[in-house]
Amino acid sequence: MNAGHDAEHTADAAHGQALPGREEVADLADWVGIASVSSDPDRADDVRESARWLVGTLRRAAFLRAEVWETDGLPAVYGCRPAADSDAPVLLVYSHHDVHAVDPSEWRITPPFSPLRDGDRLYGRGASDAKGQVMCHLWALGAHTAERDAPAPAVTVKYLVEGEEEVGSVHLADLLSQHADDLGADVVMVSDSMLWSLDEPAVCGVVRGSVTATLTVRGARRDIHSGAVSGAASNAAFELCRVLDLLTDESQRITLPGFYDAVTEPAPAHRQRRGDPCRAARQGLRRARALLRNGPAGGPLARPRRARGDARAQPRNTCADPVPRRTGRRARQGRAAPHPPAVSETSA
Ligand SMILES: [Zn+2]
Repeated sequence: MNAGHDAEHTADAAHGQALPGREEVADLADWVGIASVSSDPDRADDVRESARWLVGTLRRAAFLRAEVWETDGLPAVYGCRPAADSDAPVLLVYSHHDVHAVDPSEWRITPPFSPLRDGDRLYGRGASDAKGQVMCHLWALGAHTAERDAPAPAVTVKYLVEGEEEVGSVHLADLLSQHADDLGADVVMVSDSMLWSLDEPAVCGVVRGSVTATLTVRGARRDIHSGAVSGAASNAAFELCRVLDLLTDESQRITLPGFYDAVTEPAPAHRQRRGDPCRAARQGLRRARALLRNGPAGGPLARPRRARGDARAQPRNTCADPVPRRTGRRARQGRAAPHPPAVSETSA
């Protein structure tokens, strides 16, 4: 489903897919209109408004819990909608509601925060990264409960939608440890991914991480005579190229010692599926549909058995609030939250 489209992404693609109704797209456009740019301290209030907007939307979508989780930086949103069966599997959807900074002069179709629907596409900053994806799950959940003709979904659905993804998820690790009780899940779906084409539904199975570093190479302090000494005095730009080239081998494997020590090799079955990602996506969707249609009993996501006495065996899908809400230190002190340092673009 092509729920949204950042205006700088102008790839042509097959159209004609059934889009959500006008009302739903208007909802998404409303959210895209909030300039939740996490790298701009002047937009911190917009990021907060974006979080409140999502909480309201989750509440209207029958989420039993929907709340803003403050951090020492910008807020995340948590939501939980329980299955009727307290033993049903738990799905946690991770995504983000902050967006990249913009250069308005590059937005030719529409200003970045004045969303525009044109045919099957909605243009605006954040429409495809990742507010559209967040809404897609909500629309799917609504369609699922309507098809089941039941007030509750077949699986418990939780949301964690952070507000600092585009600046390096500065406080995500803190959130995960502070709210571990709320975030327990059998499956985590990273919502912040994409479709290769509108004709191929996709469930993204693997994404790469990213590492940022600063490398400084110092050379001569001033221009030196090319004929006299440039052979002996190497050029800093060339040295930098040499160092960067050493980081990978000819098959693009990272050559840093120890880099792969903590990396788990994919299972053989997983490697096979990588040959045809579309087929893997279709299989995944078939499994998901079967689960949603038939419920968890004997389904592919049957809840793993846990040892007696294991604390994690407590039902986690009641959406109960097990501990008092813990909020960021600065929030407790009633001070305005500072903004996290701006860092370069992070992918997905
Ligand atoms: Zn993203």
